[in-house]
Amino acid sequence: MSENGHDHPHPGTGRTATPSTLRVRAMEKLLVEKGVLTEAEIQDRISYMDSRSPANGAKLVAKAWTDEAFKNRLLEDTKSATFELGMDASGPVEFIVVENTPEVHNLIVCTLCSCYPRAILGRPPDWYKSFEYRSRAVKEPRAVMREFGYEPPENVEVRVHDSTADIRYMVLPMRPEGTRGMGEEGLAELVSRDSLVGVSVPEAPSHFNA
Ligand code: FE
Repeated sequence: MSENGHDHPHPGTGRTATPSTLRVRAMEKLLVEKGVLTEAEIQDRISYMDSRSPANGAKLVAKAWTDEAFKNRLLEDTKSATFELGMDASGPVEFIVVENTPEVHNLIVCTLCSCYPRAILGRPPDWYKSFEYRSRAVKEPRAVMREFGYEPPENVEVRVHDSTADIRYMVLPMRPEGTRGMGEEGLAELVSRDSLVGVSVPEAPSHFNA
């Protein structure tokens, strides 16, 4: 028996026994014992989540920056656009990509809990789930962004999108100035998870600014 109470290790967890992990383990055990879920189903779900990461979002954004037709498809029908790049965001949840422009900056939050475009980006960061972010993102979005190191110019409208169980948002940031010669792969490296939530924006690498 391993430390997780049965005879295989859980991948991607490296779990230390905080109260919440203990609670999760107990629930997991109970769900299996009661026959609600099988171990295999739990493992499938873990693999599914582990295969999602902000790199998916970065790939979508870089493609949108270099291919106008793809950008339009991404904005109009996010699910099929992700499918084009080999991602599987199928399921009942609706995805909406909101585009930053010189006039509008978008910020994503879930005021109620932690709804996030998990099927594309994987698990949300801890700060996204915090009570502080959930309440302040709506009340004082500019102050929140400032703390992340970015604030849109005064004349830019900040739109805050409140995610729900049914609708998940992702930001399409603007392509930074001075990245003209860059290919999709290099561009994708500029796109951080935070910029996909809208608390920051991608920046050109310094040698491109020179
Ligand atoms: Fe939520």
